[in-house]
Amino acid sequence: MQVKTILNHVGKHRSFVYESVRWAWVAGEPVIEATIRARANGHSRCSICGRVRPGYDTLAPRRFEFVPLWGIRVFLCYAPRRVNCPRCAVRVEALPWARGKHQVSDAYAWFLAGWAKRLSWKEVAEVFRTSWEKVFRSVEMAVEWGRAHQELSGIEAIGIDEIAWQRGHRYLTLVYQIDEGCRRLLWVGKERKVKTLLRFFRWFGKERSTALQFVCSDMWKPYLKVVAKKAKQAIHVLDRFHIMAHMGKAIDKVRAAEARELKAKGYAPVLKNTRWLLLKRPENLTEKQEPRLAELLEYNLRSVRAYLLKEDFQFFWNYVSPYWAGWFLDRWCTRTMRSRLDPMKTVARMLRTHRPLLMNWFRAKGAFSSGIVEGFNTKAKLTLRKSYGFRTYRAMEMALYHSLGALPEPELTHKFC
Ligand SMILES: [Zn+2]
Repeated sequence: MQVKTILNHVGKHRSFVYESVRWAWVAGEPVIEATIRARANGHSRCSICGRVRPGYDTLAPRRFEFVPLWGIRVFLCYAPRRVNCPRCAVRVEALPWARGKHQVSDAYAWFLAGWAKRLSWKEVAEVFRTSWEKVFRSVEMAVEWGRAHQELSGIEAIGIDEIAWQRGHRYLTLVYQIDEGCRRLLWVGKERKVKTLLRFFRWFGKERSTALQFVCSDMWKPYLKVVAKKAKQAIHVLDRFHIMAHMGKAIDKVRAAEARELKAKGYAPVLKNTRWLLLKRPENLTEKQEPRLAELLEYNLRSVRAYLLKEDFQFFWNYVSPYWAGWFLDRWCTRTMRSRLDPMKTVARMLRTHRPLLMNWFRAKGAFSSGIVEGFNTKAKLTLRKSYGFRTYRAMEMALYHSLGALPEPELTHKFC
């Protein structure tokens, strides 16, 4: 069997034929080079408008990297024609195996993009002996294709989340679809301002926005404002994950201040290394942590009181009756306001201010799982962490869509990976 036969099996293009396959040298190593020739009776198309146009002249041969065979790099070699298009002037013809000025064939770009879901971009570049830049361009191509072809109908529930990047100095706004049957990242935007979320709704479209039934987000004011304006029919739910995160931060503040105070007064450092003991749910503690927490709870510390308030609040989410949940919430806030723990009092005040949105949790119960936003938040952070080398916002944006967007892929004649 000849390599030509294999090439015809994995990628046959009408109007073009694989002419010959031979060894060639690229960057000091032997590679397989397959020369492509245009069929004499085939059509040449304008790369701008896609219409069949008469040929104008022929350019110098170009190489397009293809999927490697048995660890040997493969290149397609073709001398593109220019066509004379009455609409677009003299242009390079459209090539069915690569787009624009890309040096990588579509098949290879999809291959690299596929691996970039499993490995970091740097690893993909190393394994396939290509550059980081080419992996990035491949992912970009996959994301652009996927976003242009994704189905956006029937979205009923979205979750809005923000994550810090660039060492916490800047934020990204992420919008997810959190419907029962379809969960994915829909949109990424710079910053977490009013205009950020307005940009999402502009992209999402008025019709789809007014069809939303549930929006889930943090108590972040710009988000609340925009959702109230752009999706006022939707039930806006403050999600559990974000509220518990606020409490976690409050406990952290209480603990840090108290630890400093104990140290200044010369007491034993009982609060040393207790951060995770106080932030984790008790059921998630390790065997070693359990007795340490029990020991810590013996002390009458401000940190312990803050911890107990947080753990007590967990009951709120389990209520079935909104009436009793409201009663519990009010009692909890009153108790916390008397606690003399300022960071916790700030949380209680925040909850009181947003009581109606908080109570929406019970109206929306069962409609979607609130754990989804938290799960996505973890995955997004992981994507960013794996991303050493994402110097630009663009690269980071592509990585997030690529790993969390559940984007569609074209039906290819052959699946390389
Ligand atoms: Zn044209």
